[in-house]
Amino acid sequence: MSAEWLTGLLVLQDRDLKCENFRKQLEAVPYEISKEEQAIAREREALEAAKRELKELVLQREAAEGEIDSLEAAVVRYKTQQMQVKKNEEYTALQHEIDNHQAKVGEHEDVVLGLMDAIEAKEAQNKALESEGNERIQVMEAHIQRLRASEDSYRKDLEEAEQALEQARAGIDEDVAKSYAFVKTQVKRGPYVVELEGGTRCSGCHLKVSGEVEATARRGKERVRCDNCGRMVFFIR
Ligand SMILES: [Zn+2]
Repeated sequence: MSAEWLTGLLVLQDRDLKCENFRKQLEAVPYEISKEEQAIAREREALEAAKRELKELVLQREAAEGEIDSLEAAVVRYKTQQMQVKKNEEYTALQHEIDNHQAKVGEHEDVVLGLMDAIEAKEAQNKALESEGNERIQVMEAHIQRLRASEDSYRKDLEEAEQALEQARAGIDEDVAKSYAFVKTQVKRGPYVVELEGGTRCSGCHLKVSGEVEATARRGKERVRCDNCGRMVFFIR
Protein backbone atom coordinates (compact mmCIF):
# COMPACT_ATOMS: atom_id res chain seq x y z
CA MET A 1 0.00 0.00 0.00
CA SER A 2 1.22 3.40 -0.84
CA ALA A 3 -0.26 5.31 2.08
CA GLU A 4 -1.21 4.52 5.62
CA TRP A 5 -4.60 6.21 5.36
CA LEU A 6 -5.50 3.83 2.54
CA THR A 7 -5.21 0.60 4.51
CA GLY A 8 -7.74 1.68 7.11
CA LEU A 9 -10.00 3.15 4.48
CA LEU A 10 -10.08 -0.07 2.47
CA VAL A 11 -11.00 -2.01 5.61
CA LEU A 12 -13.76 0.52 6.26
CA GLN A 13 -15.03 0.17 2.69
CA ASP A 14 -14.91 -3.63 2.84
CA ARG A 15 -17.04 -3.67 5.99
CA ASP A 16 -19.33 -0.97 4.63
CA LEU A 17 -19.97 -2.94 1.43
CA LYS A 18 -20.67 -6.01 3.54
CA CYS A 19 -23.30 -4.02 5.47
CA GLU A 20 -24.82 -2.78 2.23
CA ASN A 21 -24.99 -6.32 0.93
CA PHE A 22 -26.72 -7.65 4.05
CA ARG A 23 -29.08 -4.69 3.97
CA LYS A 24 -29.94 -5.43 0.34
CA GLN A 25 -30.59 -9.09 1.12
CA LEU A 26 -32.69 -8.10 4.10
CA GLU A 27 -34.72 -5.68 1.99
CA ALA A 28 -35.32 -8.35 -0.65
CA VAL A 29 -36.90 -10.77 1.84
CA PRO A 30 -40.32 -9.08 2.25
CA TYR A 31 -40.51 -8.77 -1.53
CA GLU A 32 -39.74 -12.46 -1.97
CA ILE A 33 -42.29 -13.36 0.69
CA SER A 34 -45.00 -11.27 -0.91
CA LYS A 35 -44.25 -12.83 -4.30
CA GLU A 36 -44.77 -16.28 -2.80
CA GLU A 37 -47.90 -15.16 -1.00
CA GLN A 38 -49.33 -13.84 -4.26
CA ALA A 39 -48.52 -17.11 -5.99
CA ILE A 40 -50.27 -19.01 -3.19
CA ALA A 41 -53.31 -16.75 -3.54
CA ARG A 42 -53.36 -17.45 -7.29
CA GLU A 43 -53.21 -21.21 -6.66
CA ARG A 44 -56.07 -20.96 -4.19
CA GLU A 45 -58.08 -18.85 -6.61
CA ALA A 46 -57.57 -21.45 -9.37
CA LEU A 47 -58.78 -24.19 -7.03
CA GLU A 48 -61.83 -22.12 -6.08
CA ALA A 49 -62.59 -21.48 -9.75
CA ALA A 50 -62.42 -25.21 -10.48
CA LYS A 51 -64.84 -25.84 -7.59
CA ARG A 52 -67.21 -23.18 -8.91
CA GLU A 53 -67.16 -24.78 -12.37
CA LEU A 54 -68.09 -28.14 -10.82
CA LYS A 55 -70.85 -26.53 -8.81
CA GLU A 56 -72.19 -24.91 -11.97
CA LEU A 57 -72.41 -28.33 -13.67
CA VAL A 58 -74.24 -29.77 -10.66
CA LEU A 59 -76.70 -26.86 -10.74
CA GLN A 60 -77.30 -27.46 -14.44
CA ARG A 61 -77.97 -31.14 -13.77
CA GLU A 62 -80.38 -30.28 -10.95
CA ALA A 63 -82.19 -27.81 -13.21
CA ALA A 64 -82.57 -30.46 -15.93
CA GLU A 65 -83.82 -32.97 -13.35
CA GLY A 66 -86.31 -30.41 -12.07
CA GLU A 67 -87.46 -29.87 -15.64
CA ILE A 68 -87.99 -33.62 -16.06
CA ASP A 69 -90.03 -33.73 -12.81
CA SER A 70 -92.37 -30.99 -13.98
CA LEU A 71 -92.74 -32.51 -17.48
CA GLU A 72 -93.59 -35.85 -15.92
CA ALA A 73 -96.07 -34.23 -13.55
CA ALA A 74 -97.73 -32.62 -16.58
CA VAL A 75 -97.90 -35.99 -18.31
CA VAL A 76 -99.67 -37.42 -15.25
CA ARG A 77 -102.15 -34.53 -15.37
CA TYR A 78 -102.82 -35.04 -19.08
CA LYS A 79 -103.40 -38.75 -18.55
CA THR A 80 -105.92 -38.03 -15.78
CA GLN A 81 -107.68 -35.57 -18.08
CA GLN A 82 -107.68 -38.16 -20.86
CA MET A 83 -109.69 -40.50 -18.64
CA GLN A 84 -112.29 -37.78 -18.14
CA VAL A 85 -112.77 -36.46 -21.71
CA LYS A 86 -115.67 -37.65 -23.83
CA LYS A 87 -114.73 -36.49 -27.32
CA ASN A 88 -112.23 -38.32 -29.48
CA GLU A 89 -110.50 -35.16 -30.72
CA GLU A 90 -109.98 -33.97 -27.13
CA TYR A 91 -108.42 -37.32 -26.32
CA THR A 92 -106.15 -37.09 -29.37
CA ALA A 93 -105.13 -33.53 -28.53
CA LEU A 94 -104.15 -34.63 -25.02
CA GLN A 95 -102.27 -37.60 -26.43
CA HIS A 96 -100.38 -35.17 -28.64
CA GLU A 97 -99.39 -33.14 -25.56
CA ILE A 98 -98.37 -36.31 -23.74
CA ASP A 99 -96.14 -37.37 -26.65
CA ASN A 100 -94.59 -33.93 -26.86
CA HIS A 101 -93.84 -33.86 -23.15
CA GLN A 102 -92.42 -37.35 -23.16
CA ALA A 103 -90.14 -36.43 -26.05
CA LYS A 104 -88.94 -33.46 -24.05
CA VAL A 105 -88.35 -35.71 -21.05
CA GLY A 106 -86.16 -37.86 -23.28
CA GLU A 107 -84.17 -34.84 -24.41
CA HIS A 108 -83.63 -33.70 -20.84
CA GLU A 109 -82.60 -37.17 -19.78
CA ASP A 110 -79.89 -37.06 -22.43
CA VAL A 111 -78.78 -33.70 -21.08
CA VAL A 112 -78.68 -35.13 -17.54
CA LEU A 113 -76.60 -38.11 -18.69
CA GLY A 114 -74.17 -35.80 -20.48
CA LEU A 115 -73.89 -33.62 -17.40
CA MET A 116 -73.29 -36.64 -15.17
CA ASP A 117 -70.35 -37.63 -17.37
CA ALA A 118 -69.05 -34.07 -17.33
CA ILE A 119 -69.41 -33.92 -13.53
CA GLU A 120 -67.55 -37.17 -13.08
CA ALA A 121 -64.73 -36.01 -15.33
CA LYS A 122 -64.63 -32.62 -13.59
CA GLU A 123 -64.50 -34.24 -10.16
CA ALA A 124 -61.53 -36.37 -11.18
CA GLN A 125 -59.84 -33.34 -12.75
CA ASN A 126 -60.45 -31.21 -9.66
CA LYS A 127 -59.08 -33.90 -7.39
CA ALA A 128 -55.83 -33.96 -9.37
CA LEU A 129 -55.72 -30.16 -9.50
CA GLU A 130 -56.27 -29.95 -5.79
CA SER A 131 -53.54 -32.40 -4.89
CA GLU A 132 -51.06 -30.76 -7.27
CA GLY A 133 -52.08 -27.28 -6.17
CA ASN A 134 -51.83 -28.15 -2.50
CA GLU A 135 -48.43 -29.64 -3.06
CA ARG A 136 -47.23 -26.44 -4.73
CA ILE A 137 -48.74 -24.38 -1.92
CA GLN A 138 -46.86 -26.49 0.64
CA VAL A 139 -43.58 -25.95 -1.19
CA MET A 140 -44.20 -22.19 -1.30
CA GLU A 141 -45.19 -22.06 2.36
CA ALA A 142 -42.00 -23.89 3.27
CA HIS A 143 -40.08 -21.35 1.19
CA ILE A 144 -41.76 -18.51 3.07
CA GLN A 145 -40.68 -20.10 6.35
CA ARG A 146 -37.11 -20.34 5.13
CA LEU A 147 -37.24 -16.71 4.00
CA ARG A 148 -38.43 -15.62 7.43
CA ALA A 149 -35.61 -17.60 9.04
CA SER A 150 -33.06 -16.05 6.67
CA GLU A 151 -34.48 -12.63 7.48
CA ASP A 152 -33.54 -13.21 11.12
CA SER A 153 -30.07 -14.40 10.23
CA TYR A 154 -29.46 -11.48 7.83
CA ARG A 155 -30.52 -9.13 10.60
CA LYS A 156 -27.96 -10.69 12.97
CA ASP A 157 -25.28 -10.62 10.25
CA LEU A 158 -26.04 -6.98 9.61
CA GLU A 159 -25.81 -6.08 13.28
CA GLU A 160 -22.40 -7.75 13.52
CA ALA A 161 -21.23 -6.14 10.29
CA GLU A 162 -22.38 -2.74 11.52
CA GLN A 163 -20.39 -3.17 14.73
CA ALA A 164 -17.32 -4.14 12.72
CA LEU A 165 -17.89 -1.10 10.51
CA GLU A 166 -18.04 1.17 13.54
CA GLN A 167 -14.75 -0.26 14.79
CA ALA A 168 -13.12 0.35 11.42
CA ARG A 169 -14.47 3.90 11.38
CA ALA A 170 -13.10 4.53 14.87
CA GLY A 171 -9.71 3.29 13.68
CA ILE A 172 -9.21 5.87 10.94
CA ASP A 173 -8.76 9.63 10.85
CA GLU A 174 -11.92 11.61 11.02
CA ASP A 175 -11.20 13.55 7.83
CA VAL A 176 -10.58 10.29 5.94
CA ALA A 177 -13.92 8.97 7.19
CA LYS A 178 -15.53 12.25 6.14
CA SER A 179 -14.05 12.06 2.64
CA TYR A 180 -15.36 8.55 2.32
CA ALA A 181 -18.82 9.62 3.49
CA PHE A 182 -18.76 12.44 0.96
CA VAL A 183 -17.86 10.11 -1.92
CA LYS A 184 -20.84 7.98 -0.91
CA THR A 185 -23.12 10.96 -1.43
CA GLN A 186 -21.71 11.41 -4.96
CA VAL A 187 -21.58 7.82 -6.20
CA LYS A 188 -24.66 5.64 -6.47
CA ARG A 189 -23.05 2.25 -6.08
CA GLY A 190 -19.97 0.88 -4.33
CA PRO A 191 -17.07 0.37 -4.40
CA TYR A 192 -16.28 3.98 -3.51
CA VAL A 193 -12.52 3.70 -3.21
CA VAL A 194 -10.94 2.06 -6.23
CA GLU A 195 -7.59 1.27 -7.69
CA LEU A 196 -6.31 2.89 -10.87
CA GLU A 197 -6.32 0.15 -13.47
CA GLY A 198 -2.92 0.06 -15.10
CA GLY A 199 -2.21 3.23 -13.20
CA THR A 200 -4.43 5.35 -15.48
CA ARG A 201 -8.03 4.15 -15.48
CA CYS A 202 -10.54 4.39 -12.66
CA SER A 203 -11.68 0.82 -11.99
CA GLY A 204 -15.07 2.16 -10.86
CA CYS A 205 -16.13 3.84 -14.14
CA HIS A 206 -13.33 2.41 -16.30
CA LEU A 207 -12.49 5.81 -17.78
CA LYS A 208 -9.06 7.34 -17.95
CA VAL A 209 -8.46 9.88 -15.21
CA SER A 210 -6.77 13.23 -15.87
CA GLY A 211 -3.01 13.49 -15.69
CA GLU A 212 -3.30 15.56 -12.54
CA VAL A 213 -5.46 13.00 -10.77
CA GLU A 214 -3.13 10.25 -11.89
CA ALA A 215 -0.06 12.08 -10.63
CA THR A 216 -1.67 12.76 -7.24
CA ALA A 217 -2.73 9.15 -6.92
CA ARG A 218 0.74 7.97 -7.80
CA ARG A 219 2.26 10.16 -5.09
CA GLY A 220 -0.22 8.55 -2.69
CA LYS A 221 0.07 11.29 -0.09
CA GLU A 222 -3.26 13.07 -0.60
CA ARG A 223 -6.64 11.63 -1.31
CA VAL A 224 -7.91 12.27 -4.81
CA ARG A 225 -11.11 11.52 -6.70
CA CYS A 226 -11.76 10.29 -10.22
CA ASP A 227 -12.67 13.34 -12.30
CA ASN A 228 -15.32 11.29 -14.15
CA CYS A 229 -17.30 9.42 -11.51
CA GLY A 230 -16.15 10.96 -8.24
CA ARG A 231 -14.79 7.78 -6.66
CA MET A 232 -11.65 7.99 -4.59
CA VAL A 233 -8.80 6.49 -6.58
CA PHE A 234 -5.49 5.07 -5.39
CA PHE A 235 -2.42 3.66 -6.98
CA ILE A 236 -0.49 0.61 -5.90
CA ARG A 237 3.14 0.46 -6.90
ZN1 LIG B 1 -14.26 6.85 -12.11
